[in-house]
Amino acid sequence: MPATRTLEDLKAALSPSDRMPLVFLGHGSPMNAIEDTAYSRAWTELGQTLPRPKAILVVSAHWMTRGTTLVDVSDMPKTIHDFYGFPDALFAQQYPASGNPDLARDVVSLLASHHAEEDDTWGLDHGAWTVLKFLYPGADVPVFQVSIDMSKGLDYQLEIGRSLSELRNRGVLILGSGNVVHNLRAVQWGKGAKPHDFALEFDALFAEKLEARDFTALSDQVGLGTLLQMAHPSVDHYLPALTVAGASDAGDDLTFMTDSIDLASVSMRSYVFHAR
Ligand code: ZN
Repeated sequence: MPATRTLEDLKAALSPSDRMPLVFLGHGSPMNAIEDTAYSRAWTELGQTLPRPKAILVVSAHWMTRGTTLVDVSDMPKTIHDFYGFPDALFAQQYPASGNPDLARDVVSLLASHHAEEDDTWGLDHGAWTVLKFLYPGADVPVFQVSIDMSKGLDYQLEIGRSLSELRNRGVLILGSGNVVHNLRAVQWGKGAKPHDFALEFDALFAEKLEARDFTALSDQVGLGTLLQMAHPSVDHYLPALTVAGASDAGDDLTFMTDSIDLASVSMRSYVFHAR
């Protein structure tokens, strides 16, 4: 079945399944948090469209660990302003959602074979709160983050997604936040910058393989070769896209949204897997 393309399609396609959808959002610039953009509007609409989760597990590109997968078990994850040179209004942002320590500890157990450990020092980085503030503006759904282990290969995040997928039956929204293409060295500032060829090529390849559920191709670091290196000089923003893919199953449909390239080299492609 071809992927549906719009939020309207998603509204029509969402079944009253008890199995929660999966969401990957391209977060792009932190400025999206305080600007009215096509992205922030789409995130708002998505939050109004999805079934209301009991909790949200966020895998953000900005929590990188090596050799462990950390899970935030704090009661009240703090809002982290992990960027520099942005306006005061961005640093003033707070997302005061509670955590879910019991569920987070369950996740540590679920990921025991992935060197999971409890953590209470992180919180919500901008990969999480800049999109959550539109999805759930009331900050009234408990949320906690899980880190990405940068010492492992791409397929490791697919495995983590598979291990987490059972949470979908417990009302948990698994939210990946990164970018399908993310090369800050090749960024061109200004609205309307023409996308680089490599950005268009990798973004299209990703969409094609995701639609085909060819996750092996998407996690084949050697096969993706120099195109992957161009699209992701570091794979931190790519890994959450794979976690979400790994949590999907054959019974899911796929909806793409906001599939444009910002700043010439940042794909804002986002997608939702949802049970038929
Ligand atoms: Zn980012």
